[in-house]
Amino acid sequence: MELETKCLHAGYTPKNTEPRVVPIVQSTTYVYDSTDDVAAVFDDPTKSLIYSRFENPTVMAVEDKIAALEGGIGAMCTSSGQAANLLALLNILKEGDSFISTPAIYGGTINLFSVTLKRMGIECIYVDPDASEDEINAAFKENTKAVFGETLANPALNVFDIEKFARCAHAHNVPLIVDNTFPTPILCRPFEFGADIVTHSTSKYMDGHAVQVGGVIVDSGNFDWTNGKFPEFTEPDESYHGTIYTKAYGKAAYIVKARMQLMRDFGCYPSAQSAFYLNLGLETLAIRMKQYCENGLTVAKYLESEPHVESVNYPGLEGNKYHELAKKYMPEGTSGVISFIIKGGRSTAVKFMDSLKLASNEVHVADIRTCVLHPASATHRQLTDEQLEAAGINGGMIRFSVGLESVNDVIADLKQAFAAIDK
Ligand SMILES: *Cc1c(COP(=O)(O)O)cnc(C)c1O
Repeated sequence: MELETKCLHAGYTPKNTEPRVVPIVQSTTYVYDSTDDVAAVFDDPTKSLIYSRFENPTVMAVEDKIAALEGGIGAMCTSSGQAANLLALLNILKEGDSFISTPAIYGGTINLFSVTLKRMGIECIYVDPDASEDEINAAFKENTKAVFGETLANPALNVFDIEKFARCAHAHNVPLIVDNTFPTPILCRPFEFGADIVTHSTSKYMDGHAVQVGGVIVDSGNFDWTNGKFPEFTEPDESYHGTIYTKAYGKAAYIVKARMQLMRDFGCYPSAQSAFYLNLGLETLAIRMKQYCENGLTVAKYLESEPHVESVNYPGLEGNKYHELAKKYMPEGTSGVISFIIKGGRSTAVKFMDSLKLASNEVHVADIRTCVLHPASATHRQLTDEQLEAAGINGGMIRFSVGLESVNDVIADLKQAFAAIDK
């Protein structure tokens, strides 16, 4: 099946007289014929359902759809994108370990890495996204167990060189985790370029309609957890009657361990109702992403010609620093998210944004409706000036997320707001 078809059909195939649409199984629990049946499911939780803190048929249909879209062997949904990145890392790292990340990532993720994980004794080693392979390789320590990056950075829009970072990670026998939120698997499938684990905030384009917060972790099944660096995968798990994940679950060791250990203990699993909404978004994802790219490029070109604009950052534009990488990793387009720097700095940016009528000022991005945000005073407010700079954010920077309105109306709105700052 091609991507458009997978969006509609992967994950759920109704049998004779079953519902056409994936049903909402709004139940915390499942029943068994006998005590023996309950015991069997505890022996191997992948054989049947135990409890909706970590598995539910509606959510699992969506997990299978997203795994199919990414080309992975399995997926696990989480209650937010933050939870997805947290669990993706905690499934590999423990106190005393380190991992490598570029700082060109979402502000909430920087906070998670620099503050909360640090408090848990896990060190994030930041490397410049444009560093050479030698520089990246030199950043590894004995205890470095993973590498992390964002395909299309929110909001700096750097394109992450997946192959370069995959080579460095694999040279050190550690996996590469890629947050693929902005491109979605419609525009980029990181496993095809060597990534081992993919995460998403499904709150963005995947949901698409701004109705539910969610996340997902997808496993390629390609990483060899038996290489000696990952004893938690190859030694008996005392919390699961001695299960050895790589022995019992082979290629699915990572994603089964994430569910059986971490989701069981943390319980940040989405509800069936949320997964149902996410599925509706996914059904039209392929068709929506194409239109976001078309509208995004049109608006980016308009902004480039606008005298009030100092610079436009959209990797789909020729001349953008990341255009070549964008053509390689996202040949069909770079989504509807644009960032630009307005002449006049922070105060002009605020005046301009408050003059927009169609585009709404909101702490969201990648919505079906056009929305706008000033990262320096919102999502990235907690960062220091140095961190802002490292994340590629300027005080006059505006993040503009082009929706699926007529692009003519979006441009008309921008024009009247630029006119308003001259008054
Ligand atoms: C929004 C976002 C997150 C966090 O996701 P939530 O669903 O808001 O928790 C993580 N990564 C990226 C790239 C994001 O844009």
